[in-house]
Amino acid sequence: MLEIFYHPIYTSGISKSSNFPRDRYQLIFESISKSNRNKDIKFKIPKKINVKHLYNVHQKDYVDQFLKGKLSEVQQRKIGLRPWTSKIIERTLFIMGGSVSAVISSIENGASANLAGGTHHAYHDYGSGYCVFNDLVISAYYCKEKFKRYQNILILDLDVHQGDGTASMVKTDKSIFTFSMHCESNFPLKKQVSDLDVPLKKGMKDKTYLKILGSSLEKLEDNDTDIIFFQAGVDGLVHDTLGHLSLSHQGMMKRNEMVLSFCKKKRCPVVIFMGGGYSKPISHTVKAFSELFFQFSNL
Ligand SMILES: [Zn+2]
Repeated sequence: MLEIFYHPIYTSGISKSSNFPRDRYQLIFESISKSNRNKDIKFKIPKKINVKHLYNVHQKDYVDQFLKGKLSEVQQRKIGLRPWTSKIIERTLFIMGGSVSAVISSIENGASANLAGGTHHAYHDYGSGYCVFNDLVISAYYCKEKFKRYQNILILDLDVHQGDGTASMVKTDKSIFTFSMHCESNFPLKKQVSDLDVPLKKGMKDKTYLKILGSSLEKLEDNDTDIIFFQAGVDGLVHDTLGHLSLSHQGMMKRNEMVLSFCKKKRCPVVIFMGGGYSKPISHTVKAFSELFFQFSNL
């Protein structure tokens, strides 16, 4: 059974006039809900995260300014999701709550997902690229604190953008291994150093992409891993307006299949964090994410 954490505020917490494709969360929820392939999927409503978990990994001043609605214009612009509304605060707390709940559920059920999150561009003391706080890092420390048996975490980031915030936040922590396979010409311009970075050429298609993914996953096979966090952004699709890769839906599904069998081989629970998806029309993003969740519901 794949439990997926979802709250309507994932969509409604962003202004209607924002450029961000906020409808994707609701549309994915609807698409899965009405499908006849959802028998192994159960939606759960997350609780807001306890702010102490934010303080554990982010600068206190930054967390407090955000919670008080007092981020500066410059800080807001760096994050995006504008025009800013006060609902962003609640939305962020629910999304972070969904991610840590998914950690618990994955340990109980083998896999779990948050229908949002994967906010890998957030740094210790500032947000960036649609990311306020870094739920991957928050969830990693939450997991290490709560579960003694799950100390070694592998962050598998296949979003088209580099997991720069994540890499920077855990660079001195040997128990959290960061892997990022991303398009070299995409945001962020200035890349950080992950434990393993695999930069890809602009315009890369399925065949080359999947070959490189296969050999990269092989390198991770001998790592000491207790739990896997999969940042499953689908912005590598050819239909994506931000991503510079050219993957087909079939290629994206093959990618998921490879990650799935990697997790099985490692006998590790897996937590899925959604990540990016900016296709036009939005139906491509909805389709790709729905397929991802169906694939992992057969674990
Ligand atoms: Zn992305």
